[in-house]
Amino acid sequence: MSFLENTEEIIKEAASLAGISKDVLVKLETPDKVLEFEISVKMDDGSAKNFPGWRVQHNDKLGPYKGGIRFHPDSNLDEVKALASLMTWKTSVVNLPFGGGKGAVQADTHTLSKRELEQICRGYVRKIWQDIGPDKDVPAPDVGSNAQMMDWMADEYSKLVGHSEPAVFTGKPIEKGGSQGREVATGFGGYVTLREYLKKSPITYNLKPTSLNVAVQGFGNVGSNIAKLLFERGFKVIAISDSKGGLLESDGIDINRIIDEKEKTGLIDQGKCYAVDCDKKNACILCQQISNDELLELSVDILIPAALENQITEKNADKIKAKVILELANGPVSHEADKILEKKGVEIIPDILANGGGVVGSYFEWIQSKSGKYWGGKEVLEKIDAQMTEAFRGVAETKSKYNTSWRLAAYVRALNRVVEAWQ
Ligand code: NAD
Repeated sequence: MSFLENTEEIIKEAASLAGISKDVLVKLETPDKVLEFEISVKMDDGSAKNFPGWRVQHNDKLGPYKGGIRFHPDSNLDEVKALASLMTWKTSVVNLPFGGGKGAVQADTHTLSKRELEQICRGYVRKIWQDIGPDKDVPAPDVGSNAQMMDWMADEYSKLVGHSEPAVFTGKPIEKGGSQGREVATGFGGYVTLREYLKKSPITYNLKPTSLNVAVQGFGNVGSNIAKLLFERGFKVIAISDSKGGLLESDGIDINRIIDEKEKTGLIDQGKCYAVDCDKKNACILCQQISNDELLELSVDILIPAALENQITEKNADKIKAKVILELANGPVSHEADKILEKKGVEIIPDILANGGGVVGSYFEWIQSKSGKYWGGKEVLEKIDAQMTEAFRGVAETKSKYNTSWRLAAYVRALNRVVEAWQ
């Protein structure tokens, strides 16, 4: 099943549980608007190159469309449609006044110069500017995009409309109207969700963080932030990975040391020791190098996929030994895998809830950009904590009412809120 089919399948299942009619379901599945275009860029060598781009506006019944812009060589329209739909359910389940949208550019940012990347970002905005705006559609970063790129985009938009309009993009640099705390918001929201879950979980109830092993797949914005937050709160993060592969250290990895290293060199040096207990006096024992598949199959308490979609499918679901999966990536577990894992008793805290901290952080940035009044980092994180705790409680309540999985409970809640707004 493709990512889009997975998304449609879970919506159908949740709609049936919530008693939503087939006619309404069709409306809920269909995007409001799909923009598809080519961005022409003059490359540094003088050649011309076209980059395919998309913006999908899925549903705005709860407020302006909201969702990131992905830059990835494999991006395609179906993926953007699935991600836009997920945004509708995510903003709904975390109780925000936003709808759902998503964008993408099919490009490999690693192969582009800064000038070429800026041209693509500005070109992207020239294609969609009449369809976006602070009260219409508010894009943000996603995989492969960052604060600098949002700044170029906001600048291009402001030029096109003839006045400064910082509230049209979130995830901007702090000095250009961004919000304190936005960078860590998704990881932080994931931590809050896990903290609330652990208070209720029959699996891990009463266990101290230090007795819980964690593996994190993906070490970008989301993966590195959740790994750091858990490490600093005493969880034993025993494995991490990025697209180049993973590291395993069963006594725990010093995440701060890895982050420092990555900031300096841009890479995780696979040939260094990152063990928590390394005293540096004796010969260091290097972390064991593992593949991404091996990381997913480790026997851990908590597995956190924080890279891309469809990482756990019917092909490897049987081999998953984690007790709990905290989905910080969007769509990391396929629909078929979800069923297999449910039978095995693996609890999954679904993406639309677990990674909702990012869009909650964006919401607070949007408010600040609109009002011109800025909050400190502590205040923003307290607000994200309160919003995510409330969202978790809401989903837990729906889970008890319908006696269902966390995923279906989150979707039922999200769908109901959108359907109510429609009537
Ligand atoms: P990012 O580009 O900063 O990082 C992605 C990381 O995944 C990188 O470390 C990359 O090396 C790694 N990766 C790529 N392919 C991999 C593979 N096959 N195996 C292991 N690692 C791999 O992206 P991000 O912003 O951290 O986003 C990660 C996920 O979280 C995506 O699914 C994204 O949609 C989702 N998400 C992000 C945010 C946000 O605020 N950034 C919010 C909600 C959801």
